[in-house]
Amino acid sequence: MKIIMLGAPGAGKGTQAKRIAEKYGIPHISTGDIFRANIKNGTELGKKAKTYMDQGALVPDELVVDLVVDRVAQEDAKNGYVLDGFPRTIPQAEALDAALAKINEKVDYAINVEVPDENIIHRMSGRRACVSCGGTYHIQYNPTKQENICDACGGKLILRDDDQPETVKNRLQVYHEQTQPLIDYYSKQGILKEVDGTVDMNDVFHAIVEILG
Ligand code: ADP
Ligand code: ADP
Ligand code: ZN
Repeated sequence: MKIIMLGAPGAGKGTQAKRIAEKYGIPHISTGDIFRANIKNGTELGKKAKTYMDQGALVPDELVVDLVVDRVAQEDAKNGYVLDGFPRTIPQAEALDAALAKINEKVDYAINVEVPDENIIHRMSGRRACVSCGGTYHIQYNPTKQENICDACGGKLILRDDDQPETVKNRLQVYHEQTQPLIDYYSKQGILKEVDGTVDMNDVFHAIVEILG
């Protein structure tokens, strides 16, 4: 089962992708997590990506596409995967389709988690991310047992630099310009599924499970 998560920054893609990955036993592949790990480890890719991420801009397609194509070709992804944060542009989607077509495969579902812009700024300012495992929480909607400590790994929680309101506004604009067209792209392929992302996160998950079966 090959699944793509679509939705604005903060819509809940990561939260749901993690749960899908657990339930269906497939890897959760987050390009944002991959970039943040590279930044943490001081790699060349991390250095390049950081300049874009800090501004709320997209990392150029050529730095993203090969990375994902290689990742989905790995052994643990042979029964499928859930892609979170990729594709974010039409060229990325076309590159993924082309890579899959070569091996006679295709994406099965594109799940669009719908949340209006008004809700996003509030969601992002309350998001806390674990610096060790990438887990995400929300101070109001999904608090940790101990303040600022990750439930999963005991790591330290931070407010991501790019979750500051000013940067979130840029990211939303970038989303509308460059990523939202993917909704139409996957709708034309007949694999688009929409879920309401404004309801409780458990209810969002139930709606997704209804779709995936
Ligand atoms: P969120 O989960 O809030 O949507 P991500 O963690 O997915 O944010 O992404 C953080 C940043 O990483 C993005 O703002 C962008 O700069 C970069 N990024 C992640 N995935 C991609 C991608 N597929 N293409 C280009 N840039 C990306
Ligand atoms: P994305 O990966 O799309 O950027 P996240 O999964 O990181 O989004 O969620 C963004 C923030 O909103 C996190 O703090 C998360 O805990 C919270 N969140 C996710 N889903 C919901 C929901 N249905 N209701 C309220 N808050 C949510
Ligand atoms: Zn953690």
